[in-house]
Amino acid sequence: MQYVYGFDHEHPRPPMELKDLLGGKGANLAEMVSVLDLPVPPGFTISTEACRHYLDAGGWPPELEGEVDAAVARLEELAGRQLGDPSDPLLVSVRSGAKFSMPGMMDTVLDLGLNDESVRGLAEVTGDARFAYDSYRRFIQMFGEVVLEVPDELFDARIEVAQATAGDEADARMSAEVLAQLAEDLKAVVAEHTGQPFPQDPRDQLRQSIDAVFRSWNSPRARAYRNREHIDHHLGTAVNVQMMVFGNRDERSGTGVGFTRDPATGDAGLYGDFLLQAQGEDVVAGTHATRPLAEMADVFPEIHDELVDIFGRLERHYRDMLDTEFTIEQGKLWMLQTRVGKRTGTAALRLAVAMTEDPNIRLTRAEAVQRVTADHLDQILHPQFEKVDESRILATGLGASPGAAVGQVYFTADDAVAAHQRGEKVLLVRPETSPDDIHGMQVAEGVLTSRGGLVSHAAVVARGWGKPAVVGAEAIHVAGDHFTVGDRRVEEGEVVAIDGQTGDVILGEVGLAAATTPPELDMILEWADEIRADRMSVRANADNGPDATVAREYGAEGIGLCRTEHMFLGEERLPVVQRMILASTPEEEQAALDELLEVQREDFVTILEAMDGLPVTVRLLDPPLHEFLPDYEALLRSQARDGLTEEETTLFEAASEWREVNPMLGTRGVRLGIVKGGLYKMQVRALLEAAALRADAGGRPIVEIMIPLVVTRAELALVRRWVEEEIEAAQATTDRPLQVGVGTMIETPRAAIRADDIAEVADFFSFGTNDLTQMAFGFSRDDVEARVMPRYLDEGILPRDPFESIDVRGVGELVALAVERGRKVRPDITLGVCGEHGGDPASIDFFTEIGLDYVSCSPFRVPVARLAVAQALL
Ligand code: ADP
Ligand code: MG
Ligand code: MG
Repeated sequence: MQYVYGFDHEHPRPPMELKDLLGGKGANLAEMVSVLDLPVPPGFTISTEACRHYLDAGGWPPELEGEVDAAVARLEELAGRQLGDPSDPLLVSVRSGAKFSMPGMMDTVLDLGLNDESVRGLAEVTGDARFAYDSYRRFIQMFGEVVLEVPDELFDARIEVAQATAGDEADARMSAEVLAQLAEDLKAVVAEHTGQPFPQDPRDQLRQSIDAVFRSWNSPRARAYRNREHIDHHLGTAVNVQMMVFGNRDERSGTGVGFTRDPATGDAGLYGDFLLQAQGEDVVAGTHATRPLAEMADVFPEIHDELVDIFGRLERHYRDMLDTEFTIEQGKLWMLQTRVGKRTGTAALRLAVAMTEDPNIRLTRAEAVQRVTADHLDQILHPQFEKVDESRILATGLGASPGAAVGQVYFTADDAVAAHQRGEKVLLVRPETSPDDIHGMQVAEGVLTSRGGLVSHAAVVARGWGKPAVVGAEAIHVAGDHFTVGDRRVEEGEVVAIDGQTGDVILGEVGLAAATTPPELDMILEWADEIRADRMSVRANADNGPDATVAREYGAEGIGLCRTEHMFLGEERLPVVQRMILASTPEEEQAALDELLEVQREDFVTILEAMDGLPVTVRLLDPPLHEFLPDYEALLRSQARDGLTEEETTLFEAASEWREVNPMLGTRGVRLGIVKGGLYKMQVRALLEAAALRADAGGRPIVEIMIPLVVTRAELALVRRWVEEEIEAAQATTDRPLQVGVGTMIETPRAAIRADDIAEVADFFSFGTNDLTQMAFGFSRDDVEARVMPRYLDEGILPRDPFESIDVRGVGELVALAVERGRKVRPDITLGVCGEHGGDPASIDFFTEIGLDYVSCSPFRVPVARLAVAQALL
C-alpha cells in the first residue's frame, strides 16, 4: 500500500476524483500541478489512509517512515535546498486537508525546518535577519501551540515584553535583535512547559507536526463541526507537506485570497483581497487592512494579468467558480490552494444559469440543476437578518423553521392574540407548544420554545406555515410573565428576534435584508421539472384554501396531506365539537355533526377550488378526542383551588372519560373513526358534497380520501364501505362523474408488513413516515428529541436524527417492503409520502430509488423538493 503521493504523481484517475484518499486540498494541489501545470510550490500528500491507521493503531504504518523520507528527498531535489541545511534551509508547511472542507477546524504548521543554526543561514542567504528571526519566532509559537499544546497565553506574555522593548513601534517593525531575543524567550516557554528543549532536528519537527495534524482530526471542535455537517468521523484527514514561499519577504511580495467571480452575487470579475508583505494567515485573520484584488492591477500589473489568466484556466478546467489562495514572493506568483467556491443562494442560481451560456464552460441544464442545493434555496426563499453583534445573542436553540422574525414576546397564546389585536408584532415564547396554542402561533411572527426538537409540535406547525421558529433553546427559562437566560431577565412585551436558520435568539430589533428571488430561480426549477416529469411529482401538505393557493404558486402538483383537525378548532367550532363529544343521545350527536358538516363543506370547497384539476388527499380526523377538550390536569387543579362551574364540571367529566394513558397509541385515527362512526361519515359527506358543488360549477375536483393509522385490512374495508355509500349518494346529486379514490396511510409497522392485504381495499398508500419512524423505533418523538437524540448523535449511536432524514435501513426497509407487496396486489396503486421526510433531500433520494409516485411537503418546501427530486433522478 502506498501512503505518500507527490503533487505531480501520475494517478490512474484525475486527482479530483481521489479526494477520499488525498483530501480536498491535496487533490486540488495535485490537479493544479499535474493537470493544469500552474505555479505551485512542490510538495507531497500523505493519504487519509495513513491518518486512519494512525488514529486506529496509535502510530504510523511501518512503510510510512520510508515513504516520507523518499518524498522529502525528492522535494529537496525539486526545491534545490535541504531541510535543516544551516547555510540555505528548505522550509515547509504541514497542512491538514480532509475530503470535505472543514474551514479552520484542523491545524497547519508553517515555516517548519528552522532551528538555531538554519535561522542564521536563512538570514544570510536572504540578507534579511529581520525576516529570518520573524519567521523563526512565528514557527516556534505555531509549533508550540499546535504540536506541543502550549497554552497561547504563555506566549502572549513574552510577546508583550518584546513589544514593550520595541517601543511603540508596531509588531511588524520589531528589529532583528528584538525578534531574535523573542525567539529565545519563546523557546524557553516551550522548555518550561514541556520539560524538553525546543526540537532542533527538522525531521523530528516534521514527524511531530504530521502526528499533530492527524490528531487534529479528532479535536473537539472538529468533531462538533462534523456532527453538525453530518460528516463521517472515520474519514480522517490527509497531510500536505509543501515548500514554503514567503509573501512577507520584501516589498515585492504579498499574499491574497481570490474568487474567480463574486461569491455573493455571482457577478463576473475577480473578487478577493490581498496584502503586501504578509504571510497567508494575515489576510483572513482580520487583523490587517487588506486591499481589494482589483487594486493589484496598480501595484503588480503583471501578476494581476497572470492571475486573471490563471482564474480563466481554472474555471475552464473545473467548469465552476473557484476560491484560491496565492502568494507572491519577490515578484513571482505561487498558487497555494484552490477549491470550488462556497456561494450564497443568489450567486448559486445566477452562476448556474450564467454558466450554461458561458462558451468556456457550457454547463448542461442537468449540470446547472445540480449546482444548486436545498440550503441555497432556503436562503433565497426566507428573509434573512443582517449581521448582529455576538453579545446580543441571548441563546441558541435548534433552527427549526428558517426565516427571521422580530416581535414583542408573549408567553401564552391568548396574550399573543390580544397583543396582535392591539397591533403589535408578536413573538410567541413557550416552554413547548400544543394544539391549544395554535391561535397564538397563527398571529405570531415567529415561535420560540425552550423544549422540544426539530419535529416537535412547534417545529412541525411552524415549518408547515413557513413561519420562523427556534425550538429547544434550553438556556431559556420561561416563568409566567418573563423569561430568564442566566441572570438576564426579559419581560413580557420586550423585543426579541429569532433566526430560524441558525437558531439564534437575539435581544432587540434586528434589521431584515428582504428576500428577493432572482429570475434564475424559476429557470432552474423549470429545468428541474423537465427532469422529473412523468417520474415523480411534488405535492404539498396544506389544510386550507390560502395554503393550497400558496402551494400551487410554489409549484405543488396537488395536495398529499390535507389534515382536517384544524376544521374542528376555532372559537365557533370547538364548542360544537365538544357538544358532539358530550352528547348523551344519538340525536344530540347528529345535530352537532350536521352543524360541523355545513362549515367543513365550505372549507373543502375552497381547497378543491385552489387545487382544481389536481389531486387533493384529505385525511379524515386523526388526533384523539381529548385534544378538543380542556386539559384534564388543569381542570383538576382549578377544581381543587376554586371549584368548577356547572359547564366546567361537564367538560371535566368528559375529559376524564376520554383521558388516555398513552393517547398517541390510543383512540385515534381509524380507531376513533370506528368508535365514533358518525364522525367519518360526516367528514366524507362534507367533502363529497363539496366535490359535487365544484363539479357543478364547472371545476374538476379530484378527491382522495385517506384513512389514518390503519393496521389491518378489515379496518379499512369497513370504513371503505361507508365511504362508498357516501360516494353513491353524492354522485346522485350531480350529472358530472366524481373522481374519488379511497386509500390509507401506511404509518404502522404492521400496515407496512401486511401491505398486500391492505392494497386489496386501497387505491393508494401514503407513507406517514413520522409515525412510522416513531413506532418502528419505539421513540416517542417529542420526548426523545429533547434528551436522548442529542446524546445519541454526539455518541455516534445514530448517524442522523431519523425524524429529520429517513432511516433507510430500518424504516426505509418497511417502506420498501410495503411498496413491493402493495404493487404485487395492485400494480397501479398510487404511492406517496406525506411525512416530514417528504421535504428532506436525503430522504427524497431514497424515495426515488424505491419508485414512489410523489412526495408531499409543506408549501414553502415545494421548490426544494422539486429540485431535490430532479437531483435524485440524475
Ligand atoms: P486552512 O485550511 O486553514 O486554510 P492552510 O493549510 O491553507 O490552512 O494554511 C494556512 C495558511 O498558510 C494559508 O493562508 C495558506 O495560504 C498559508 N500557507 C500554507 N502553506 C504555505 C506555503 N507552503 N507557503 C506559503 N504559505 C502557505
Ligand atoms: Mg487554506
Ligand atoms: Mg400519523
